[in-house]
Amino acid sequence: MAHSDDNGLVLPPKIAPSHVVIIPIYRTEEEHLQVMEFAKQIQTSLKNLMLQDVKLYTELDDRDLTSSERNWNWIKKGIPLRIEIGPRDIAQNSVMIARRDKEPREKQSVLVEQIPNYVVETLAEMQEGYYNKALSFRENNIIALDAKEEFYAFFTPKNTAQPEIHGGFANSHWCGDSACEEKIKDDLKVSIRCIPFDAIEEKGKCICCGNESSRRVIFAKSY
Ligand SMILES: [Zn+2]
Repeated sequence: MAHSDDNGLVLPPKIAPSHVVIIPIYRTEEEHLQVMEFAKQIQTSLKNLMLQDVKLYTELDDRDLTSSERNWNWIKKGIPLRIEIGPRDIAQNSVMIARRDKEPREKQSVLVEQIPNYVVETLAEMQEGYYNKALSFRENNIIALDAKEEFYAFFTPKNTAQPEIHGGFANSHWCGDSACEEKIKDDLKVSIRCIPFDAIEEKGKCICCGNESSRRVIFAKSY
């Protein structure tokens, strides 16, 4: 899956500023011209593609850097797909495609006429992967809190000078009064994220005012 060691961005395809980068690889000026012409055709073939409601953007990176420098640059920016094209690929009418959510060296050979389909399908798969990951992150980071002090401690940054990002969720009772919702927002910058549809009726005390509550809701930091 995604690398924790490369310190680069990992963006879900739907929010990435561009989705595909084409990296031409060549040694001689003759190869350069040949590869660029081929690369531009590929870029054109990817125009007007959509990932659901998002228009896909393709970059063509012909900067005067080694291919590994260019590759690394785009990995760090979080671009979801990288297409490498060299003279050998052109001879086979194919390209090599690498995914941001796999190891950098892991590449798939794709025939030219299959590239648009491959791009759309792979981006959709990646989008789904990020979504599932976010979901399981949330499931693993939910904590049921019933005491106000615990709730406040949970959401108070350890370092007030430089508050850390708080990715946790609290499943706590709320009386339904918007005054309590406002107070928690003012005190902790925490808001109600969702009122679970499948919440079981459960008597408890509001995490803020202590009054009777009949259900739990999910609280999280709002950034
Ligand atoms: Zn309340």
